[in-house]
Amino acid sequence: MITNFRKGVYLTEETKGPQDPQARYDSVIGKDAKCVMQTYGRQPLVLSKGRGALVQDIYGREYIDCVAGIAVNNVGHCHPKVVRAIQAQAGELIHTSNLYYTEIQAELAENLVSVTGMERVFFCNSGAEAVEAAMKLARVVSGKSSFVAAEHSFHGRTIGALSVTHKSMYRDPFMPPVSSETAFVPYSDADAVRKAISKNTAAVILEPIQGEGGVNVPDAGYLKEVREICDETGTLLIFDEVQTGFGRTGTWFCKEHFGIEPDIMSMAKAIGGGFPMGAIAARDGISFERGQHASTFGGGPLACAAALASIEAIREEKLLERSKEMGAYFTEKLRNMARDDVVEVRGKGLMVGVEIKYPCGKFVDFARENGVLVNCTSDSVLRLVPPLVITKEQIDTVVDVIEQA
Ligand SMILES: *Cc1c(COP(=O)(O)O)cnc(C)c1O
Repeated sequence: MITNFRKGVYLTEETKGPQDPQARYDSVIGKDAKCVMQTYGRQPLVLSKGRGALVQDIYGREYIDCVAGIAVNNVGHCHPKVVRAIQAQAGELIHTSNLYYTEIQAELAENLVSVTGMERVFFCNSGAEAVEAAMKLARVVSGKSSFVAAEHSFHGRTIGALSVTHKSMYRDPFMPPVSSETAFVPYSDADAVRKAISKNTAAVILEPIQGEGGVNVPDAGYLKEVREICDETGTLLIFDEVQTGFGRTGTWFCKEHFGIEPDIMSMAKAIGGGFPMGAIAARDGISFERGQHASTFGGGPLACAAALASIEAIREEKLLERSKEMGAYFTEKLRNMARDDVVEVRGKGLMVGVEIKYPCGKFVDFARENGVLVNCTSDSVLRLVPPLVITKEQIDTVVDVIEQA
């Protein structure tokens, strides 16, 4: 791989395909424009390879990936353990049905119960599906139907998950919601949660740190107070840990920072080391009964093999500690930039947000042109969620590029 991406465009032997890269690039952009529904505002990049914290495009240019599939590639791109596990499992059994047991699903379930500290899990295939499952579970267990959610929340794009997602751009064109009674309250305001809970509230659903909403870290006592309010009122508490899970914030799950347990939690993104998977976990006494929920692909052998390998890699390579350490180093360096166009640097572990005084689109372009992929969320927040295996030197380069930007 090329490491000297800053000097321009190079080709490695590997990336010199049968055609020249410009023709391949044009062909991809053309086919996409013609055949794919244009829902994504894509960056002008065609990616072809990834290793660790780096990705490479079809020109052979290399980038430090601070997007990481949006907090998906926590163990790094193409982690050898994950690759081997998928390859081996693909040769044994790719898919079966939940009408039958598999060893790999049982083993993953046991591991997830262990890392979440919850009682039982249910497997699905994505974050939105996990939120759907959490909402269904809350309704069926409580016998109530409405939800309290936070302003600036993001819980997914399916109709149910949209019902508790706040941003009007995602929501409004698809209304009415499934749960017409969702009460949106300001994030990090426990009194507002108390006031919003009604006789018909099944659950309060919160991200322990808001991702899409701008890497918003709640005040210290907030989640604990919400837990108490939920206990007093007999309301379930759902944590959406889809983005904050699997070491992202320096612990297995973000809830550990706040010393409280939800009743139900949703997971996805990093769970499979890059392979699509979702899951919920719930505490003792909260569970679906037979027939209440199902998924054709949920907990399939390939996804379970990938997730198990990813969990093992997080353990063996001490990636929780690494996330904490590198996150502290990264945040400190960003704070030391002392630029007056930076409003705030915030986050936990390697979930870092840099809020700036204006829309960050041009930052994203500049960074990309200088070999660093970053993502802009909530208009003016640079979201930095690199693989947890990112090195100090790579962080130095990223901070350097952001400072120049
Ligand atoms: C990404 C995200 C989702 C949705 O996940 P998908 O896999 O895209 O459906 C839900 N909740 C949170 C907190 C997320 O960050």
